[in-house]
Amino acid sequence: MARRKKIYEGKAKILYEGPEPGTIVQYFKDDATAFNAEKKDVIDGKGVLNNRLSEFFMNGLAQIGVPTHFIRRLNMREQLVRSCEIVPLEVIVRNYAAGSMSKRLGIAEGTQLPRPIVEYCYKDDALGDPLVTEEHIAAFGWASQQDMEDILSLALRVNDFMSGVMLAVGIRLVDFKIEIGRVYDGDYQRLIIADEISPDSCRLWDIETGQKLDKDVFRRDLGSLTDAYSEVARRLGVLPKSNVTKPTLIN
Ligand code: 5GP
Repeated sequence: MARRKKIYEGKAKILYEGPEPGTIVQYFKDDATAFNAEKKDVIDGKGVLNNRLSEFFMNGLAQIGVPTHFIRRLNMREQLVRSCEIVPLEVIVRNYAAGSMSKRLGIAEGTQLPRPIVEYCYKDDALGDPLVTEEHIAAFGWASQQDMEDILSLALRVNDFMSGVMLAVGIRLVDFKIEIGRVYDGDYQRLIIADEISPDSCRLWDIETGQKLDKDVFRRDLGSLTDAYSEVARRLGVLPKSNVTKPTLIN
């Protein structure tokens, strides 16, 4: 069997050249990292769950007209996505204070924000993805003014969609991170949602109990990450109800 060409290996995913030009196969690993890879582990089944959950969210976004890189899921751990140029920003949307915002501004975790707040971090592992302003983004040419308007609108649409979907299953969307891709259609460029949307990149709290159902379970040693992600998947109907801890999905 011919070996596939690896394009890039990140902390949680591997990208391979896709079967058709302009496509990429995105493989979800079981590796979990936190604090800029200072904390590492392999979490059985995480990749399978994130592949499924990201498919679910990206399909939902497409249904409401938000463009994404997702084409189709290929198997348990892989999905076919559209190749794009990644804008070197992490776009974070916050509904409640938590994590780095709580630390930076001294606001108690869980405090509801007056409105969703969008932040930008420069994607650079060596620098620890520092927070940047729109001045930095414009001056260094990471995105144009028009791009920034489009990114803000995409981020808020993703927030509205994700908040609603989560609320319907008793989960509060505290915050999340997305990445944006640039694609070219002839002479025109468009921005689309890229990378993944999963509990690795969101904060998800049970509305009743406040239980954390996201990567903070790993970051803060709060129990089984697979149990937390499986709970999210089960509530969304992404996993069969009986399958709680060990995903054994075929296709
Ligand atoms: P914070 O800035 O509070 O650490 O993170 C805000 C939100 O963005 C959280 O939901 C967090 O999971 C997500 N996030 C921030 N940076 C990263 C990152 O480098 N990788 C992933 N997967 N998520 C991130």
